[in-house]
Amino acid sequence: MSVMVHGKNVGQSLRRMLENDPAFRTVAYFSMEIGIHHQIPTYSGGLGVLAGDTLKSAADLGVPLVGITLLYKKGYFNQTFNSEGWQQESPVEWQPEQFLQLLPNEVSVMIEGRSLHIRAWVHDFIGQGGYPVPIYFLDTDFDANSPDDRAFTWHLYGGDQRYRLIQEIILGVGGLRILRDLGYDNIKTFHLNEGHAGFLTLELLREMGYENFQKVRDQVVFTTHTPVPAGHDHFPYELVDRVMDPIFSGRLRRMLGENGVSMTELGLRYSRFTNGVSVKHAEVSRRMFNTSKVDAITNGVHSLTWTSTGMRRLFDREIPGWSNDPSRLTQALKLSDEDIWKAHQAAKMKLLAKILEDTGRELDPDVLTIGFARRAATYKRADLLFSDMKKLLDACAGQVQFIFAGKAHPQDEGGKAVIQQIIRASKEIGAALPIVYLENYDMSVAGLLTEGVDLWLNNPKRPREASGTSGMKCTHNGVMNLSVLDGWWIEGWVEDVTGWSIGPEPAEADLIDYDEMEDAVDLYAKLREKVLPTYYQHRERWVSMMKSSIALNASYFNTHRMVKDYCEKAYGIVFRGL
Ligand SMILES: *Cc1c(COP(=O)(O)O)cnc(C)c1O
Repeated sequence: MSVMVHGKNVGQSLRRMLENDPAFRTVAYFSMEIGIHHQIPTYSGGLGVLAGDTLKSAADLGVPLVGITLLYKKGYFNQTFNSEGWQQESPVEWQPEQFLQLLPNEVSVMIEGRSLHIRAWVHDFIGQGGYPVPIYFLDTDFDANSPDDRAFTWHLYGGDQRYRLIQEIILGVGGLRILRDLGYDNIKTFHLNEGHAGFLTLELLREMGYENFQKVRDQVVFTTHTPVPAGHDHFPYELVDRVMDPIFSGRLRRMLGENGVSMTELGLRYSRFTNGVSVKHAEVSRRMFNTSKVDAITNGVHSLTWTSTGMRRLFDREIPGWSNDPSRLTQALKLSDEDIWKAHQAAKMKLLAKILEDTGRELDPDVLTIGFARRAATYKRADLLFSDMKKLLDACAGQVQFIFAGKAHPQDEGGKAVIQQIIRASKEIGAALPIVYLENYDMSVAGLLTEGVDLWLNNPKRPREASGTSGMKCTHNGVMNLSVLDGWWIEGWVEDVTGWSIGPEPAEADLIDYDEMEDAVDLYAKLREKVLPTYYQHRERWVSMMKSSIALNASYFNTHRMVKDYCEKAYGIVFRGL
């Protein structure tokens, strides 16, 4: 990127200085979770990984942006299974000082009538061209606070409503105060990645004068991620009045009325731009919130992060420049069948080696391997595959092996029961249909799986998948998608070309009460009639589909394209390139 000062292209050292000057940053990206590396366990799933991928692409593209999140000392949790297959949770042990640098700055927010002190750690993510994007992690675990107050930044999505409300005050109000303290006084866009940081609108109002709602609106951009009402944070005033600074709680009543504090309402009403994360999700959100104000920017993944070593090497050789311009992956159509297959099998061997090491199970590299890994929430229906055991075995016995992974939220008994059911089924079925459930799904396991399986299965209940991103990781590795038509797949799906669908097409799927068994029946049929014959009898067609999936899908469903969309539609930044 070139930096122009008074019409002159400035030199390297001055450029570096300006890049590091907070006054040159114009976008602040707030997210309850950010996942940039599996060793920095400040994320739980899709939302955090998307945030991390966004910041990485911003750094690659030289977008003047900073990230803000919380430092979770005890992470989300470590997952193991007991002998009955029931999920056990333990805190994650990690040393922030290994990856982050503690800053001397300190600010405070008012909670329950006292001051809660907040400091920050920073990690500079360096883009492919050398451009840094600083990520600030807020922390209350130090001497200035009482032992109870120190624990507010320990757990991601832990604790009760009060704990959650206080974390959101730390993120929204504390986050903005830290930014100001660090010298960020030229931010033009505050991007709320989901409603959690919505309280920053209160702090902006305080800064600009309490009547200036429009000025606040002009600075805020809001991305909603959840297509179901129950997924949105809602705090009753009875709690808000007890916890928040009275100036703020009074203000919230004027902004939102008396029905409690909906963080989504706050984001929707006090932003200049709102978007959902796929075309379908934006449509569902407009209907749900009864507004026309929800635009669509479809999610992506960070291409370099989610491409296997072998594929990277192949792309580097045949498609130069792909990693900082993934739209060039359209050229994947010209790759040779042998090269693509070799790179794929290498990733598969790496995955199978990890499974052998972790579980003692020896899977076969020549057998079609299907992956299913995501949060074990019940709407994701990891157990749909097992709804008719006879049909499953008729279709797949001796020809398929399955790998599952995914954590259930510690308070989600339903999700834990689904995991247990799969582990039990795997024991009952035995050798005819090997099924492995890997422990502790995280970014590292996600990488191995989305690089190394042959086919990725996704069958959530419609229309509950806002976007989904794990399938996009697969498209970078020539791993085929077999998925319900929801979220991103409606946009990426070309039957028999980029993968296969399960169940009805989107228009029909809008029916709330469709018969879920239909999805299961269709899933077995697709496996039997399309997936297995293509893999075993028409390998050249399979490989050609791998290439189509990279060329048509990876070239689009990446965060480079997505960040450029945000620049254009939401940030008002003219993208000048590097
Ligand atoms: C990519 C990723 C996700 C998101 O997957 P979905 O398809 O959106 O469910 C969740 N968890 C981890 C660890 C990931 O890497």
